[in-house]
Amino acid sequence: MERTKFILDEKEIPDHWYNILPDLPEPLPPVLHPGTGEPVTPDDLAPLFPMALIMQEFSPERYIEIPEEIREVYQLWRPTTLFRAHRLEKALDTPARIFYKYEGTSPPGSHKPNTAVAQAYYNKMEGIERITTETGAGQWGSALAFGGACFGVEIKVYMVRISYDQKPYRRVMMETWGAKCVPSPSPDTKVGRDILADDPECTGSLGIAISEAVEEAVSRDDTHYSLGSVLNHVLLHQTVNGLETKKLMEKAGFYPDIIVGCVGGGSNFAGLFLPFVKDKIDGTRPDLRIINVEPFAAPSLTKGLYAYDFGDEAGLTPLLKMYTLGHGFIPAPIHAGGLRYHGMAPIICHLHKLGLVEARAEHQLGTFKAGITFARTEGIISAPETNHAIRATIDEALKCREEGVARTILLAHSGHGHVDMAAYDDYLAGKLHNYEYPAEKVKEALAHLPKVPGAEEKGEGR
Ligand SMILES: *Cc1c(COP(=O)(O)O)cnc(C)c1O
Repeated sequence: MERTKFILDEKEIPDHWYNILPDLPEPLPPVLHPGTGEPVTPDDLAPLFPMALIMQEFSPERYIEIPEEIREVYQLWRPTTLFRAHRLEKALDTPARIFYKYEGTSPPGSHKPNTAVAQAYYNKMEGIERITTETGAGQWGSALAFGGACFGVEIKVYMVRISYDQKPYRRVMMETWGAKCVPSPSPDTKVGRDILADDPECTGSLGIAISEAVEEAVSRDDTHYSLGSVLNHVLLHQTVNGLETKKLMEKAGFYPDIIVGCVGGGSNFAGLFLPFVKDKIDGTRPDLRIINVEPFAAPSLTKGLYAYDFGDEAGLTPLLKMYTLGHGFIPAPIHAGGLRYHGMAPIICHLHKLGLVEARAEHQLGTFKAGITFARTEGIISAPETNHAIRATIDEALKCREEGVARTILLAHSGHGHVDMAAYDDYLAGKLHNYEYPAEKVKEALAHLPKVPGAEEKGEGR
């Protein structure tokens, strides 16, 4: 019998995160202040984030120590297992070797607590008692609720009203971990009250929820704000997974030819591939392919413009250089809620611009079909987000069969789909449709991108 699981001892949980910033062949474009067009300073961000996280955001250090208290919480589910997908390989009749690193065994069921726990810890260390955040379908809200419970930090989650009403189970998870979850728009903030006065039935949006969470954070000294993806420090925390994976692939005796992952804001996939992309940058593994998979319904890397844009739909955040569909992007109602973001992590965008990673888009129906194949072979019922990566993995494995080549494919498996069974129910009942974001809409959004003084002169526009 061939090995199926590759595991590390608890003592082997990495004691440092890996920071890509000093290893980038060209420096990452700076984050800009929306008013001045100048790079933001740590003080600009201090009302929202603890200084430790702000320092990590811009750190020149290659390795950043993981505090013991965070590693102790990581021990609840880390290190996570690397699987060899023998049964999927057999079903596909492919010579490819398929591996997947599974993050679904964390308490909230995804990679998200890798950063939620760290963010709760650093806020607590700086005397912050409360953290506000927004959540769409609830994955991030539930992860931060768990993080808050670990360190006694109160968590307040503004959850988009329509999800709050239609998808109650993530809310119940948040409440079970002790967080407060309110439907957004809410009467708790000025933004929310104004919207409700206009339209008491407003079903909300991520943009409104962000505005509410930020408004509350800046108006109280004991409260900060937290983001679950996109930013450098979030990707940094996720590298705990990639560092484990690198060791485990060595144990398995293979180095990947192709690494595949799904990207919403980019945190789970970057967390896995960043320690590997280092080998591509330094020339040890020039042929390594890294494939970012996104939905056709939110195709920022494949159809967006590389430009400065706001991180949120409401236009409150500093400006990030990223492939964007425009911050006014209104997503189609696909089930992969975690992939419906208008932008992408600046680190991934920069690597894409430099030709170090590639991107492709997938349709909803094909991703669910792949998810069903995965469930019927490997057993795991995957999150709709993860199914995008599974689709691309299967397609690469089938290409290996056609070409008669035995490549090693590594899949970043970001989480289980146990709280998304309504989506599977719709798929199995034939009620799901494909959505493609129209090219004209991307063009239209460009007209609304923020004007950045000097960006064109610096040759950073397109
Ligand atoms: C939130 C989420 C994603 C997308 O977020 P990234 O920051 O791109 O990783 C992907 N998979 C799962 C299971 C998620 O919960």
